[in-house]
Amino acid sequence: MNQPARRYLSSLAAAGVRRIPRGHSKGPAEAPAPEPGDAEAALTALAAEVRECTRCSLCKTRTQAVPGEGNPHPDIVFVGEGPGADEDRTGRPFVGRAGALLDDIITKGMKKQRADVYIANVVKCRPPENRAPTSEESEACRPFLERQLEILAPKAICVLGNTAAHLLLDNDLPMSRMRGQPFAWRQIPVVPTYHPAYLLRSPEAKRPAWEDIQRLMKVASSS
Ligand code: SF4
Repeated sequence: MNQPARRYLSSLAAAGVRRIPRGHSKGPAEAPAPEPGDAEAALTALAAEVRECTRCSLCKTRTQAVPGEGNPHPDIVFVGEGPGADEDRTGRPFVGRAGALLDDIITKGMKKQRADVYIANVVKCRPPENRAPTSEESEACRPFLERQLEILAPKAICVLGNTAAHLLLDNDLPMSRMRGQPFAWRQIPVVPTYHPAYLLRSPEAKRPAWEDIQRLMKVASSS
């Protein structure tokens, strides 16, 4: 596992902590902590908790929750908005048309495999009619994302679209103002770029998005 994640879990164990702390004071019930050094077990425990979660009304309309997937020791984590119909059906993040474009970005652009990175969303359950999650839904689900990021301790986070950027960066700036600016979440560099679903609707945004991805790779390699 990477050093930040090992330090984090070891420090919890050294302090006698047997459960992973929440990243938010109103977070959902805590999952049992895995043995120090086992990020995969921590993510599995968190995913089980997500699948049982009823903290917001999205639990009533989901087919299944979509906790996230990928390398438990990634250099890069992508964070999107929320599951769509394909994700709700399969339980996996970014598997529809937008997911295919993200796959292309990862494999053709970054020369990596999807399994090299971790992919998650702000909300883990599909908002009806693919609407954006409400601020209440995003806040209810925030502790899951923050705990994922604590466990994963990546070198860089790429936020895909305004919903993820606004939640993690605590601002309400348009993407045009955020792109290219240095941001961080708890000292981890954050690179904002367009959501792949937006790129499907606005192909002219693909070039600036590619510039963002190049910056993401540079940031991750220098962290
Ligand atoms: S969206 Fe998040 S907070 Fe809401 S029910 Fe699903 S897992 Fe729980």
